[in-house]
Amino acid sequence: MRKKIVAGNWKMNKDYEESKNLVTKLLNICKPGKAEVIIAPPFINLLSSIKILEDSSIKVAAQNMHYADSGAYTGEISGSMLKSIGVEHVILGHSERRAYFNETDELLSKKVDAALSNGMRIIFCFGEELNDRKSGIENSVVKSQIKNALFHLPSSAWDNIVLAYEPVWAIGTGETASPEQAQDMHAFIRSTISFEYSEDLANSIPVLYGGSVKSSNAKEIFSKPDVDGGLIGGASLDADHFGMIVNAIQ
Ligand code: PEP
Repeated sequence: MRKKIVAGNWKMNKDYEESKNLVTKLLNICKPGKAEVIIAPPFINLLSSIKILEDSSIKVAAQNMHYADSGAYTGEISGSMLKSIGVEHVILGHSERRAYFNETDELLSKKVDAALSNGMRIIFCFGEELNDRKSGIENSVVKSQIKNALFHLPSSAWDNIVLAYEPVWAIGTGETASPEQAQDMHAFIRSTISFEYSEDLANSIPVLYGGSVKSSNAKEIFSKPDVDGGLIGGASLDADHFGMIVNAIQ
């Protein structure tokens, strides 16, 4: 059975006190259940979140990291630094990092290697833009994003990879891929991995859907056979709302 995961990407939201309040509420709402729960607060709130969640099953992820372990990279944070405070998960490849910070597949493949060599688990995001979908090239765009950043990895490394399909046109727009569009793409992703590696490996990889998931649509999207949960942006900033999305996992 594949793991079901619900992860919350807080982006650049919640100051120190707000973050502690939200994490404390989540601690009371998200009891161990069918879904593994991961939250990704901004860097400055990672340590306080880890401390609050010490005895809970909720895990904490960074939203980004640098590929080097240390050095002259002003303003950056490394995987080994994250590990030193107990962060074992990292989101890489988010469309906002790709669009606003020029993160390319090549750079992401270096970040992937660095995260894995630090023993971290990666939530790797990818997805097509609206024009790609309108032109009918969404499958080839998604395939090349996965291939370029991940297909150099040996099969064993995939134990620490979670994929997150996030069509860019659905992120923060209120527009969601239909459950059928999500299922079709997730099945395609699995077939791509199966072709490159093996069917067993493809069937073992959690593939999350992200893009305007809310408590009102989560159940339907999560009910699709190749959708193993979600990466949630806006709706992860409210504890009750996020809790309802977690509970939508069957
Ligand atoms: C995201 O940023 O990963 C995301 C899915 O955002 P939203 O849920 O707000 O669309």
